[in-house]
Amino acid sequence: MSTEKKSVLILGGGLAGLTAAKRLTDRGFQVRVLEKREIYGGKVSSWKDDEGDWVESGTHCFFGAYDVLYDLMKEIKTYHAVLWKEHQLTYTLEGGKRFTFNTWDMPSPLHLLPAIVKNGYFTFGEMAFFSRSLIPLALKQADYPPTQDHLTFAEWAEQKKFGSRLMDKMFRPMALALKFIPPEEISAKIILDVTETFYRIPGSSCMGFLKGAPQEYLHQPLLDYSASRGAVFRNKTAVDELLFDGGEIRGVQLRNGEILTADYYLSALPIHDLNRILPPGLKSRDRFFGGLSNLEGVPVISVQIWYDREIASDDNVLFSPDGIIPVYANLARTTPEYRTLRGEPFSGKTRFEFCVAPARELMKLSREEIIRQVDLSVRACYPAETHRAKVLKSTLVKIPHSVYAPLPNMEQYRPTQCTPVRNLFLAGGFSRQLYYDSMGGAVMSANLAVDGILKAGARE
Ligand SMILES: Cc1cc2nc3c(=O)[nH]c(=O)nc-3n(C[C@H](O)[C@H](O)[C@H](O)COP(=O)(O)OP(=O)(O)OC[C@H]3O[C@@H](n4cnc5c(N)ncnc54)[C@H](O)[C@@H]3O)c2cc1C
Repeated sequence: MSTEKKSVLILGGGLAGLTAAKRLTDRGFQVRVLEKREIYGGKVSSWKDDEGDWVESGTHCFFGAYDVLYDLMKEIKTYHAVLWKEHQLTYTLEGGKRFTFNTWDMPSPLHLLPAIVKNGYFTFGEMAFFSRSLIPLALKQADYPPTQDHLTFAEWAEQKKFGSRLMDKMFRPMALALKFIPPEEISAKIILDVTETFYRIPGSSCMGFLKGAPQEYLHQPLLDYSASRGAVFRNKTAVDELLFDGGEIRGVQLRNGEILTADYYLSALPIHDLNRILPPGLKSRDRFFGGLSNLEGVPVISVQIWYDREIASDDNVLFSPDGIIPVYANLARTTPEYRTLRGEPFSGKTRFEFCVAPARELMKLSREEIIRQVDLSVRACYPAETHRAKVLKSTLVKIPHSVYAPLPNMEQYRPTQCTPVRNLFLAGGFSRQLYYDSMGGAVMSANLAVDGILKAGARE
């Protein structure tokens, strides 16, 4: 079959949709991307505010494990923009205390030894007890986490009887940082999957930051690459419904009433938006589509605060178990091109970006109240440094439905990228692949969806 003339409509211009557009354009397909918002990038989107400072949907850390993302960035020549940070995890606590998990440059699992032996907070006994609870993981490796999907991580930890300090100070912020839900809600499977990857692959937990905005190093280069090869991008174009008839998708109806058709349809929408546009006939057809309504997005809030002095000099991601800022970074250190205030470069100040979670209750509060609570969390962690510190500026982004919630027993509902409908494919962080709802997951899901389209093309 010649793929030359086949057309694909991609719904959604987030990272998954833009990745799929590139891959399909490379394979000679006619590609159109429909994006509801004015800007592309979805949950990784970034834009400049009225004062000339970048605002992001959220702090984005690049894990060492995301090979598929780095392959893509190398192809669009932006990999140089990932700045790798020292391989360590630092936790900041109330009262100015902190502890750090370091790693060694050694084969797995020896690379984790310094974290167990000497972290400045947990005793050797606590860490040894924790390590013992991971024996099944060490023995069965990737086969073990799926067997624990029926439990929350808190329930799993309760069974293993590891101490409450480990749960409260280490795993609570980790769960909140990963998927914005606490250990009492998150499936044990995802924490164990991540732990297994970190344990097995020495560089996988190393983190990097972009040197500037994702708009400049991810979305625009991806869009430019595909557009220069013939792909068509339509922003401010919301899809209202997939038109399903005779066992196939016959077209998509846009919010403005227009109907568009193609040979293949690739949804790269978040799960709540996909559930909205799926026709009832398809949902009731089989468990594959019906099961999707069990998946939902988690609320999260992203806050930036500029302070008039340097509060934290860490050039790395920071975790905090206390307060409402489980994961954050001083962008003035981590992200050189973000060292601006009202568009002007600065030095000797702080520009924090926080992921604020759990956010379900906080979503109801006013902007001022949320900023006040975030500021209080900062002052609790840095009492000396914030003594006379003044807030110079703040921004806030509320995302009611962000990444899908990996609650217990949800794995069974995560769809594969190929669907029972011949010409419909799915991509997006929620779809089934190794990296859950993350940048790596979005790219991997797009790669798998494109493989599916190529195979379908070869069959027809
Ligand atoms: C605060 C925050 C912090 C994060 N931190 C990290 C991190 O540190 N590391 C990491 O790897 N991941 C992180 N993530 C997760 C990561 O951003 C997502 O997993 C990834 O961006 C998902 O990409 P996607 O393309 O699947 O979905 P999305 O980014 O949601 O893209 C979907 C697109 O579809 C569009 N759309 C929706 N409805 C319609 C419609 N009806 N018609 C047309 N278009 C529509 C949307 O506007 C959007 O552009 C974070 C997410 C958030 C919210």
